[in-house]
Formats: sequence, structure tokens, C-alpha cells
Amino acid sequence: MPFELTPAEEMARKIAREYCEKYIIPRRKELMTNDQDMWDEEARRQTRAGLHLHIVPREEGGTGIGYVASCITIEELCAAWPDLAFAIYGEFAYYFAKATGGEVYEKYMPGIIKGDILATPAITEPSGGSDMLGLQATAKKVDGGWVLNGRKVFQSEGHYCDFVMTLVKTGDPNDPKTPGGRSLTAFIVDREFDGFKVGRLENTLGRKGDLTEFIFDNVFVPDSFVVGGERGIGRGIAPVFSAVGDIGRLTICGMLNGISAGAYRTAMMYAKERHLYGRPISELQMIQARMAKMVVDLEATRALTYRVAWLRTKGIRADAEQATAKNFAEQAAIRIAEHCVKIHGGYGVLEDYMPHHYYRHVPMRFGAGGTEESLGIMIANAAFNSEANPDLSHNSMETAGWWGRLEW
Ligand SMILES: Cc1cc2nc3c(=O)[nH]c(=O)nc-3n(C[C@H](O)[C@H](O)[C@H](O)COP(=O)(O)OP(=O)(O)OC[C@H]3O[C@@H](n4cnc5c(N)ncnc54)[C@H](O)[C@@H]3O)c2cc1C
Repeated sequence: MPFELTPAEEMARKIAREYCEKYIIPRRKELMTNDQDMWDEEARRQTRAGLHLHIVPREEGGTGIGYVASCITIEELCAAWPDLAFAIYGEFAYYFAKATGGEVYEKYMPGIIKGDILATPAITEPSGGSDMLGLQATAKKVDGGWVLNGRKVFQSEGHYCDFVMTLVKTGDPNDPKTPGGRSLTAFIVDREFDGFKVGRLENTLGRKGDLTEFIFDNVFVPDSFVVGGERGIGRGIAPVFSAVGDIGRLTICGMLNGISAGAYRTAMMYAKERHLYGRPISELQMIQARMAKMVVDLEATRALTYRVAWLRTKGIRADAEQATAKNFAEQAAIRIAEHCVKIHGGYGVLEDYMPHHYYRHVPMRFGAGGTEESLGIMIANAAFNSEANPDLSHNSMETAGWWGRLEW
């Protein structure tokens, strides 16, 4: 496993950093005003600049550099401003179009490469995001397609997205013909389809009108928009889990690491500039201890995330490792952001200073991509089934003969 970035990945960081220096950092004061038009403008600019193209292979029009470059790009964007990683909605668009193929791929792909098309997963319902079998939205088969009805909540960037990948019931989990997860099917729904409506907008800790409700009111969806085609009916969980894992969870690790990196850089600069007792506070041992703790967390969280991203680029599924990286990234980010606020003393909570912006954006990422509990269940399941690989090798504990018994 390489422990250094490739020249292409270094270049991805340089490009993203230059983008932030040009378009984001000089506008931080404006971003603090929460003006919706500014977010709209920024959302398209990132994909038009091609920041979403690293997961798209070269032969399909992307850079093909891979998931590490994608995580680094998201990290740089969120270091500049903790909630500005719109590029991921271009990545989602590619992932959904690729998973569906056929007419959907043909329709959206040219716009995705140009950066004009964004998409989001529309899974969560008021009945509870963790309980997929409890989903209430339905699709009924009609001639040539399906008719969808239901409500989805917590939709990220619902105002900008051109289409969504949604998961709804096409069967009954208690019916032996469509048992459990076999009752669910994933569909692509274009926002221009009749009956697709944007409902209530929710304000979050970070932004006004941040999250959206989608309403499906007798939306007709053609057969060619079923993810996985005929075979995908009743098999919707797999593509949704892949998308939520590979793009959602992994890029949320990138977002959290960006918050950590931004808070670290901000604290470091402040510690060198702020003078007390006739010297910079960076010379005070207790401040140095905080900085050292920040470095440890930042190194560890990046290493976990980049390893998962590296595995995904090689085509290796790493669900338990991804869940591990996300759970660690959120804990590291909250600790690092807290140190940053505290190093700034009272200035840490002033509106015009960055520390509290980093701090309050961390909880925004707690639920997105899976809660700590649901990911903890995934990690524990893998551990007890010997699929988790904390040795970082292909020898599981069992094949290495490690039974934990005295007599071996
Ligand atoms: C900023 C943000 C952006 C989001 N973006 C999207 C999006 O674009 N698309 C989308 O579809 N959704 C999105 N979500 C929704 C997110 O996926 C859900 O919030 C998440 O799945 C949790 O669902 P819930 O909020 O309904 O909580 P619930 O499912 O009601 O969970 C409540 C609590 O119970 C815990 N819990 C659940 N199951 C267990 C268990 N078995 N054992 C122990 N504890 C358990 C949970 O961890 C949580 O603490 C977003 C959320 C946020 C905050």
C-alpha cells in the first residue's frame, strides 16, 4: 500500500486549493450572510470546473484519477468553507447514471461531464432513515413504467438537483414473494417529471433552506429508469447502498477531514499571530499540547479515509473500513474543531471568525451517510463474521490460526 500521494493526486489537491483561494476564501464574509443565490452560483461552478470528475474513468470523459483525489478535493473545499462541497452531487449523478445505464446514461452523461447535471439520493422518509423496510413510498406497475407516490425528507441540495435516485416499495416485505429487502426497488426520477414536487425547505445549523422535502404525486417513471432494469425490480438496496457508501459516506469523510484540516490551519495561524505576555501563544506549552492533539487526529483520520478511497479505486469493496473511517472522522473533527475554538479564546465564537463555523458544521455530518450507531452495527457485523480486516492484510484472524485459546 503506498503511503504517499501520486503526482496526479497531488495535482488534484493543488487544483482544488487554487479554486478555493480564488472563489471561496475571499468570499467567506458573504458566505456568512447565507444568501441563497450565492449557493446556487457556487453549486454549478464547482462541477463546471470539473471538480467532480475524478471518479469518472478517462474513457468516459473524466480524469480517472480515482477516489483518493475525490476525497482530497472535497477536503480542500470544506477546509475553505465547511459546507461547500457541491462537487459530490456531480459524482452522485455519474454514479446513478452508470448504475442504471441505457437511456438514463445516454440522457445525462453529456451534461454530467460538462458539469451541468447534479443529482442526490432520495431515500430518507419521515418514518426513519435507519429503517429501510419501513419506507412508505410506493411504485405501482402500469403500462410502460411505474407510478410513484410518497414523500422523501432531508434531501441535500434538493433545489439544484436535476434528478434523484430513490428507493421505494414495489412489494410487501411480509409477502413471501417479495420478502424483506426484495420489496424495494430503486428508480431514477427526473425533476421535470409531472408530479415531482419540492416541498418544505429546512434550515440547518449551517444554512437556510439547506435540506429539501420531495413529494412524488403520481409520478410516471418509464421502465428504462428502473435502476438495474428488469433485474433491478426488488433489488434496489444494492445500488443504493453502493452509492450511499462510495459517494455519500466516503465524501462525507472528505468533508469532515476538510473541517479538521481547515480548523487546524486556522488554529495554527492564530497561535502564531496572537501575542500574550510579549510572545506568540504558539510558544505556550498548553497551546502546543492542543496543536499536537490536532495533528494526531488529522493524520489518523486522513490515513483511514485515504486507505478506503485507495481500496475503492482498486475496485475492492471496503464497507466495514468505510464505516470505520466515517465514525472516526466525525469524532476527530469535533475534537479538532473544539481545540480550534478554544485556542481562539473569546474570538472563537465571534460570527466573523472561522472557528465556530467549523465547529457547528460537524454535527451536520453525523446523520448523513449513516449514523454512528448504524455504522457501528455494520462494523460489529463484519468483525463477528471475520470480514473486518484490522490486520490490513488478506489473512483473516482465522486463517492466521488466531483463536485466542491458550491451548493453541
Ligand atoms: C445534513 C444531512 C443531509 C442528509 N442528506 C440526505 C440525502 O441527501 N438523502 C437522503 O435520503 N437522506 C439524507 N439525510 C438523512 C440521513 O440519511 C438520516 O438522517 C439518517 O439515515 C438517520 O435517519 P433519521 O434522521 O430518520 O433517524 P432515525 O432513523 O429515526 O434514528 C434515530 C436514532 O436511532 C438510532 N438507531 C437506529 N437504528 C438503530 C439500531 N439498530 N440500534 C441502535 N440505534 C439505532 C440512530 O442512530 C439515531 O441515533 C441527511 C441527513 C442530514 C443530517
